[in-house]
Amino acid sequence: MIRPGRLVLLGHPVSHSLSPAMQNAALAAAGMPVRYSVEDVTPGELPSVLARLAGEGAAGNVTVPHKESAAHLMGRLSPTAARTGAANTFYAGDGGTLVGDNTDVAGFGDLVRHAFGRIPEGAHFAVIGAGGAAAAVLAAIETWTGCSATVYARNEERAARLAERFGGVARAQSMSVEAMMVCDIVVNATPVGLDNEELPIPLSCVSRGATVLDLVYRPGATALVRAARAAGRAAVDGLPMLVGQGAAAFEIWFGFEPDREAMWKAVKAATGRN
Ligand code: NAP
Repeated sequence: MIRPGRLVLLGHPVSHSLSPAMQNAALAAAGMPVRYSVEDVTPGELPSVLARLAGEGAAGNVTVPHKESAAHLMGRLSPTAARTGAANTFYAGDGGTLVGDNTDVAGFGDLVRHAFGRIPEGAHFAVIGAGGAAAAVLAAIETWTGCSATVYARNEERAARLAERFGGVARAQSMSVEAMMVCDIVVNATPVGLDNEELPIPLSCVSRGATVLDLVYRPGATALVRAARAAGRAAVDGLPMLVGQGAAAFEIWFGFEPDREAMWKAVKAATGRN
């Protein structure tokens, strides 16, 4: 692959992202003169922007709403990006071919390890949402011993299609308190709570012993994480996943592990945590 001379995050909108602070901290810690910046790109602009970046030998990340369309625009996909149907990481491969990867899968593993200290065996997950992040969650779950998932989404057809793709471990179901109460781990894979105080599900759906993992993060904590903790449930937001997916992307671009402590320091500072 071509070692990137610059890194870009493509999204729409994208200005709220913590990735520049986090990746620039990792680059500085490694003493590399490469910068990570953002480009707000509309869906219509994505093909030409990706082609231009590949021509420049740039690499980077893709975020909402482009992960699925980016996967279609790549010359080659890693097995993980092909499995999820979404690319959050890209780089210029040999001959300038655009290569797409998906490090959200590894990032979700880091979030689970952060919450439990290990990957729990035989856990049953409730996954709320049926988009690219939910696909990454299921792609991780299908590699874990004895784990399975039920997908709940407001668009039940989309949930059924996603669950079918991961039929070995997942099924889709209509939202119901009784069904969700049997889940060990409840994952919010919708954007609900990103810029508001809404909860993606009522807390009455989360059993007393269950753990809440919110893929969303924001300064302070999300409303879901705050409400779950106030109700005595363990809850972690999406920061460990952000750092995990970012560290995995850095390693793909440069071939060595970044300084995760520097990355954590940057995201904690940006979200006002200590
Ligand atoms: P996506 O592909 O657009 O999918 C979003 C899913 O959420 C869809 O199922 C969508 O349903 C549903 N949804 C959207 N708004 C909703 C609402 N108001 N109420 C109920 N369901 C709603 O997005 P994605 O790529 O999966 O990302 C989802 C979220 O995960 C992002 O906002 C991001 O914050 C988070 N994420 C975090 C990390 C991290 O590193 N921490 C990584 C990846 C993603 P419809 O199909 O009906 O629209």
